[in-house]
Amino acid sequence: MIHIASPQIGEEEKKAVIEVLESGMLAQGSRVKAFEDAFAEMCGVEHAIATSSGTTALHTALLAHGLGEGDEIITSPFTFISSANSILFVGAKPVFVDIDPLTFNIDPKLIEEAIRPKTKAIMPIHLFGLSADMDAIMAIAEKHDLLVIEDACQSHGAAYKGKKLGSFGTGTFSLYPTKNMTSAEGGMITTNDAEIAKNARVIRQHGMRRRYYHDELGFNFRMTDVHAAIGHEQLKKLPHFNRKRQMNAKYLSENLKGVLTPVVPDGYEHVFHQYTIRVPDGKRDELVEYLRENGVGAGIYYPVPIHKQSYYVTELGYDQILAKAERAAEEVLSLPVHPGLSQKDLESIVSAVNTFMN
Ligand SMILES: *Cc1c(COP(=O)(O)O)cnc(C)c1O
Repeated sequence: MIHIASPQIGEEEKKAVIEVLESGMLAQGSRVKAFEDAFAEMCGVEHAIATSSGTTALHTALLAHGLGEGDEIITSPFTFISSANSILFVGAKPVFVDIDPLTFNIDPKLIEEAIRPKTKAIMPIHLFGLSADMDAIMAIAEKHDLLVIEDACQSHGAAYKGKKLGSFGTGTFSLYPTKNMTSAEGGMITTNDAEIAKNARVIRQHGMRRRYYHDELGFNFRMTDVHAAIGHEQLKKLPHFNRKRQMNAKYLSENLKGVLTPVVPDGYEHVFHQYTIRVPDGKRDELVEYLRENGVGAGIYYPVPIHKQSYYVTELGYDQILAKAERAAEEVLSLPVHPGLSQKDLESIVSAVNTFMN
């Protein structure tokens, strides 16, 4: 079976973990700090704050900006559930705006009509490794005085017009094993704002600004030095991982037939967290079955847009129609593109898709 994801763990990660285990210092300490500094440098920002997951990075980032009850945050419905759930965690309301069907990301042309007096922030998702349209989004944010919290959980090292994602607004990343780099579980917040960075560190550690004095409600969202040791080694390999993903994607796009391959607009650096095609004529579900029977682990990201998830419909009362996101959910299919694929794997993927679509 050619798996949809395959974490690339080498001797470097193993050695780094053993060193931490033998040091006797296991929880958040000097390894976390070193990893944060290196991650900030990769993104071209002043501060990075490590957390226990991408979800807690999002949650912490929203709290660090003071977002909460009564606030509305504009975001995309076509993403992993935790993007919007993080908005619910802080007591704010996700307001969904439809996507650009070519990039799968929030359509900036639809954002302004969704802005109301309670709107405080825009949360673009850089889905599948491709940036949202950041010039347009930053211009709207500036015009309406809105915060920008980027969900870059799928876009480590990706760039928009030469600028790394996570450096436009406050960035959030996931380090889950299927992502472009991993710390097993983990997350990262990136920012150029020293006060936001400070707030995030306090929220991550029980709301504690002075040891054992708690003036606000915080959490235990810390990363451990064991996880940071893995993440730091993975960060060194990220450029290589991303290049391999881009080369694999290039091969697939040059050879697949009968399907719509991913679009990379000029000036965007796509890092292909997923290689997501559209399958025409209602054949998607049959193709997934066929691929799995033929040893290709294809995935559907995502089969249900968030505004159609039953919790959002039955508990929260969402009843919007967002036609482009809904159509994407019916047509998308992600093929393996991870750095562990061999040339033979790529040929098998192409041959299976082309045979079925022919
Ligand atoms: C993975 C992911 C998250 C959540 O990250 P976890 O580390 O799994 O908590 C959030 N948003 C998007 C778009 C993701 O892909």
